[in-house]
Order: sequence, then C-alpha cells, then structure tokens
Amino acid sequence: MRTAIGIDIGGTKVAIGAVQEDGEVLASVQFPTEVEKGPDYAVTQIISSVSEIIRNYQVIEGIGIGCPGPLDTKRGIVTNPPNLKTWHGYSLVQKIESAFQLPVRLLNDADAAALGEYFFTYRKTYKHVLYVTVSTGIGGGIIINGQLYEGSKSGAGELGHSVIDPKGPLCGCGKSGCLEALASGTAITRIWKERLVQRGSQIEPTWSGKELFAQAAEGDSLAKEVIEEATTHFALGLSQAIQTLNPELLILGGGVVIGQPAFYEQVKTKLPHYLLDQHKESLQIEMASHGTMAGVIGAAASILETRK
Ligand code: BGC
Ligand code: ZN
Repeated sequence: MRTAIGIDIGGTKVAIGAVQEDGEVLASVQFPTEVEKGPDYAVTQIISSVSEIIRNYQVIEGIGIGCPGPLDTKRGIVTNPPNLKTWHGYSLVQKIESAFQLPVRLLNDADAAALGEYFFTYRKTYKHVLYVTVSTGIGGGIIINGQLYEGSKSGAGELGHSVIDPKGPLCGCGKSGCLEALASGTAITRIWKERLVQRGSQIEPTWSGKELFAQAAEGDSLAKEVIEEATTHFALGLSQAIQTLNPELLILGGGVVIGQPAFYEQVKTKLPHYLLDQHKESLQIEMASHGTMAGVIGAAASILETRK
C-alpha cells in the first residue's frame, strides 16, 4: 500500500508518522519542540526518527511537513510564526531534502490537519469544510470545492490572528487582542494565572491548562469564568470565518479541543448564537475524527494526494 511520512511541527511538540493511503498510521513518534533550543535541535531528531521509519518501511513516497505559519511554502521556508520564534527564516524543506532522496512538501499545520480530516474521513460527504485547531496557537484550514485553499501566500485561514478585542492582550504576532491571545491553550492558562495572582492566590509554576479545566470541573468559579470567556471569544472568532466561507462542516481539533471536551461543548452551544440562520442551518460541527493525529496524517496526505 502507498505510504508517506507526515510530520506535524507545533509550538510545543513534534509528531511524526508513517501513514498509509487508507489512513492507517504504521509507526509514530513524538517529542517536545523545545523552541528555545532552535530549529536544528528539533530537525536533528526529526531526521533520525524519519531515517528509522524509512529503514522499517522502505517504500515511502515522500515527506509532508505541517508547520505553524506564516510560511513561504513555495520556497520551503519558515517565515515568522509567533509560536516558533527561533525558527524565523529557517530553510526547513532544504534541510529535510538534503537528508533524504524523497519529495518534501511544506504546508501550514492547520491546512495539513484540514487535509487529513478531509482526505481520510469527509471527502465523500462534503465539499466545503473549515478546520480550526486550538493548541499552543489557533489556526484554520479551508477546503473549498473539495480542494485545499491556501490563499496567495499560504496564509488563508489565519483566524487565530483576527482581532476580537482591540484593547486585549498582546499576541505573539505583535498585534493586540487576537483570538489566539484570548482563547488558545497558552492564552487561557496565562489569563487564569494572571487572575489568580491579582487575587493574591498561590500558583504552582507547573500548572498547565489541565489544572485549569480540572478546577473548573470541580466547580471553581474563577476557572469556570476564564473558560467561559475563552469559549465566547472563540465562538465569536469562528462566526466571522463561518460567515465569510459558509462551510457545510466545521471541524474542531488541536490539543485543547481533543483533550478538553468541556471546551468543545461550550463552543458548540455558543456558536449558533453568533450566526445568521442561513449559516446555522447548513452547518455541521464535529470534533476532529483523527484527534491530535490529524496534522500528521494530513501532512502525509499532501504527498499521497498530489502523487495520485
Ligand atoms: C499560526 C497558524 C497556526 C496556528 C496553530 C498560529 O499562531 O499563525 O499558522 O496554524 O498558530 O499552530
Ligand atoms: Zn496575532
């Protein structure tokens, strides 16, 4: 069976898998991105993991890489993603190509995940799909008429950087009040800790979003308030994209959505309030069917799809 390698680079972790054309993941590995150590640190691990996969599964057609944007996908360069600050200007495709004699394709991480969900799950049923990931950042991937729409500079679907509140917190992209600065996993945890400090409460430095959601589930009012605000902001941001694109299907993915069903359920309840009837009635909402592997399988699909 035809097989390709998919690599999903995130602000927190890197995931790699060998993916068959039926969507089965034959082998997969994960490790922390450790952004502060720079791109060569992660790329050395990527090359050794991919080499091992290739040794075990010889017939690999190519390597697809999903990476947070902004990217120059045509030249294979990581331009200036807010969540990969040390990677700015890095020639990622050239590095990977020089290690393997295989075709390499670079695409936005949310575009990859959109493609993965579409190619392996929803292709037969839908034509117009919006995929949105909530993880370290927030990003979107758009399928129009059954094709991935990347825009003129592969920047389509960057809804994480839509300004929701001009007086809001500073975003990693340099603007203030972006959706990503209000509702991403990193933002929610940061806002929660800031409010705890304001109230004079003790915080543990190791606390992550998991503790926030756990406290909310136990009924803590501050934790509940922070999550409610984030899901309202997220639903507002989503509504703008949905009214622009009028998709039939909205797929929500990324670590926060997959790991915290409470977040997903709140968004699903709130979103219809911000939509026109026309959009509401025609919209199906689903959680990513491939969970946090959507990016890996989609990066691989970018190779399998173009070499059909
Ligand atoms: C980037 C997007 C990416 C998202 C999720 C955002 O900061 O601008 O391109 O899809 O993070 O990683
Ligand atoms: Zn931003």
